[in-house]
Amino acid sequence: LKIQRDEHAQVYKVTSLIDIHVHLHPLKLFRAIRAWFNEHQKWDFCFKDLNPEAIAAHLQSQNVERFVFCSYAHKPGIAHDINTWIAEASKALKYHGLGLATVHLGDQDPVGDMEQALQDGCIGLKIHEVVQKIYIDDVRFDAILAMIEKAQGMVLLHVDQPIDRKKSVTIPQRIASVLDKHPELKLVLAHFGGKDVLDFMKMTDKYKNIWLDTTWVFGNAAEPALPFVTDELLEQQSDRLVYGTDFPLTPWPYGRELENLRSRGLGPATLQKLFHDNAVRLLDPWLDRYRISIASP
Ligand SMILES: [Zn+2]
Repeated sequence: LKIQRDEHAQVYKVTSLIDIHVHLHPLKLFRAIRAWFNEHQKWDFCFKDLNPEAIAAHLQSQNVERFVFCSYAHKPGIAHDINTWIAEASKALKYHGLGLATVHLGDQDPVGDMEQALQDGCIGLKIHEVVQKIYIDDVRFDAILAMIEKAQGMVLLHVDQPIDRKKSVTIPQRIASVLDKHPELKLVLAHFGGKDVLDFMKMTDKYKNIWLDTTWVFGNAAEPALPFVTDELLEQQSDRLVYGTDFPLTPWPYGRELENLRSRGLGPATLQKLFHDNAVRLLDPWLDRYRISIASP
């Protein structure tokens, strides 16, 4: 097995990556988020510079051809300004980074916020059920998700279970109810959807637009986040896996997940899909619509 693994790592040369889960935030919010992790998780972040240009330049040096980034509104009243910032940051990065909007259901007009964000250059929505305490199956999301579905945008979702509904409905059931209503919605489950990943993997036949993002799952090889996810399962789901990292909100340097994934027993075709080709499908038509503009000499 050892020999086989080394062979795979040698066969698969990383030439171009697409990272679909990067964090860029307005500076004040970014400082607050990092301080929270420093205090509560005792993490020492490897990459200290919080400026979008510095983060993008580092990603470029790591062969990241394109990336998708997000922020989030943890309370009402700030989503609109964050979205303006995201759209401007994406433009300033010459679309090397493509932005996801944020909405808060406690705001006056979250549907209008989403519409504006799409017009301004965002390519979809990030929902963080843990931080935002709003849930994707909330009926108030219906019009927003329908809009994203129609625009061929994506939703990057960090799932959690609402405390008051813990027993009545499972997380995979909640996700199924959303996709039954929005079958064309491209839904990316951050962190493989967490502990329910095996249920989500069973749903990928029926729901053609579920994607699983590798963020954190393979960050620590000695102690993987979801140790029951085998290479065999990864090969079976090879068309649904997309590479994400949470960079720069990680206590390890960029490339850790990549090396851990490469050192497993996965075939080069699966790695090529995971690191690049699946994201090209996921990000259609946005990679063409927002081509990286290269300044003329
Ligand atoms: Zn994240």
